[in-house]
Amino acid sequence: MKRRKFVAGNWKMNKDIAETTELLNAVLGMPTVATGEAEICVCPPFPSLLRAEHVLAGSRILLGAQDMSEHDGGAFTGEVSARMLTAAGCTHVILGHSERRQYHGETDGLINRKVVRALAAGLVPIVCVGESLTEREKDETTARITAQVEGVLNNLAGSQVAGLIIAYEPVWAIGTGKTATPGQANDVHALVRGLLSARFDEKTANSTRIIYGGSVNEKNAAELFARPDIDGGLIGGASLKAGSFSSICQAAG
Ligand code: PEP
Repeated sequence: MKRRKFVAGNWKMNKDIAETTELLNAVLGMPTVATGEAEICVCPPFPSLLRAEHVLAGSRILLGAQDMSEHDGGAFTGEVSARMLTAAGCTHVILGHSERRQYHGETDGLINRKVVRALAAGLVPIVCVGESLTEREKDETTARITAQVEGVLNNLAGSQVAGLIIAYEPVWAIGTGKTATPGQANDVHALVRGLLSARFDEKTANSTRIIYGGSVNEKNAAELFARPDIDGGLIGGASLKAGSFSSICQAAG
């Protein structure tokens, strides 16, 4: 089954409203971004979302957020709901990024509740999993990824899973300049696809997009995206430079 490639830029806590306008206009000005088959998404910080929606109107670039609440609304100071995100023009939301797990104590259970909430609101979750360096060195990658995938997808139906995106992001490769080799990454993607097949069915496993994140840049993107189980990328640092991001999008086709 041919899966459409997906590339998302995770801007993290970078770019205020004026800088968002500037970067998006630069990205839109890149000829390689206007064409191509891959789905492209950018995930700026919350205060920039509305402006991003205006700047991106009529373009092929989709809009995502970097997190959201597990709750629908109410007395949750500092939180943002799924409905607020869709109202601001978001179609996607990153959930369970390793920085949320590490700095905000997010667990697979919490991420699972957010995934359920996002799907109910019509958002496409980009759900992150990934092992730490210690886990990889202790040969615990398979166990860690298995536990995370099972945890974040708990109680979901295969039809729901086929509509979300799983991002494999080895923690040791995020923002470090160390990229998993295409072989290392594809092995974990194949593992995840095998888990989906066992838990749901082959159709679900073959429909679900699994993207790679961790120091993807314009030099290594094409080789990573050429692997059979790598369906695109979640891009941090390189998504903040219009030229790099557009080259990565071009590598996705
Ligand atoms: C990320 O934060 O999701 C990420 C992959 O970052 P970087 O590309 O900078 O490693």
